[in-house]
Amino acid sequence: MIPSFDALPGGCLVTDLNREVRFANAYLHEELGAAPGTLIGRKIESLLTPASRIFYDSYIQPMLLHEKRCNEVDITLISATGERIPAVVSVRVLHGDGEGIIWCIMRADNRNAVYQDLARARENLKIQAQELRDLSITDDLTGLPNRREFERLVNRELQASERRGYGLSIVMIDIDHFKSINDGFGHASGDETLRQFGAALRAIMRQDEVVARYGGEEFIACLVDCDGDGAAAFALRVHGAAKTVLLNAQAITVSIGVATWRPQSPEALPEWTRRADKALYAAKAAGRNCTRFADDGSVAP
Ligand code: GH3
Ligand code: MG
Ligand code: MG
Repeated sequence: MIPSFDALPGGCLVTDLNREVRFANAYLHEELGAAPGTLIGRKIESLLTPASRIFYDSYIQPMLLHEKRCNEVDITLISATGERIPAVVSVRVLHGDGEGIIWCIMRADNRNAVYQDLARARENLKIQAQELRDLSITDDLTGLPNRREFERLVNRELQASERRGYGLSIVMIDIDHFKSINDGFGHASGDETLRQFGAALRAIMRQDEVVARYGGEEFIACLVDCDGDGAAAFALRVHGAAKTVLLNAQAITVSIGVATWRPQSPEALPEWTRRADKALYAAKAAGRNCTRFADDGSVAP
């Protein structure tokens, strides 16, 4: 059995050289909401939106003149009820008797939906990638940058400061007797203390400065264009910030180690941080709740 055009799962249309419809299959009548046979005799442009009419005249028609064919172009049909139907059409010039043009028409709203789904999926992937990146650079508990991100930012800052001739100071901050906070008040209180101190630190930072959770109950800041004096003033502010974090009406205290890097110094971040860590160790050894400087060993406060 040879099926008729009406059995095609797509639109089939023949127009003559006057652009009048000579044949349209059942599928097309149905899609356009036209009663059987009523498309015959209509002008092709009456089935198209104004924009598609322009496209027909400016692109499809010239293509048919020169190439005798026009493949897979997007047009929008207009149904009997005025509904816009996006479609993909391929068109050929028919030779021989009954010369005219044959149209093969497929609805494209599904294809558009697929493209939209793909675009949405791509957008979601981008958002997820950004979320993953944020997670990978952020400390969960305090929301501050983590150590890895701190090191990335400071290495970038080192290059900029070398060019501009700025000094940089690293400030390592360690909460005193934190273990006894955990032991005395519970781990959840310890966490809350870290959160509060993290927020207090963030509040005293300048916009261009970086503060991060370095690990455990240790925090680290990098001060831009800042020598020993500036760092000493900042350390005082950090001791002040610790005073705002209370446990059972008792403020926490911190010990601080500072190391300054100056332009043209060959020192890389790991050695520079080690000097700050040593200074911090010296502050602990000196009885805690104080600051030590790697460079000159002076004490503040
Ligand atoms: P020091 O004054 O010498 O710094 O003593 P410390 O008790 O602060 O230092 P120590 O290194 O002995 O103890 C640090 C404690 O911090 C041990 C560890 O269980 C706790 N800690 C590390 N990370 C977290 C955390 O995310 N939450 C809580 N609650 N505790 C943590
Ligand atoms: Mg520690
Ligand atoms: Mg500690």
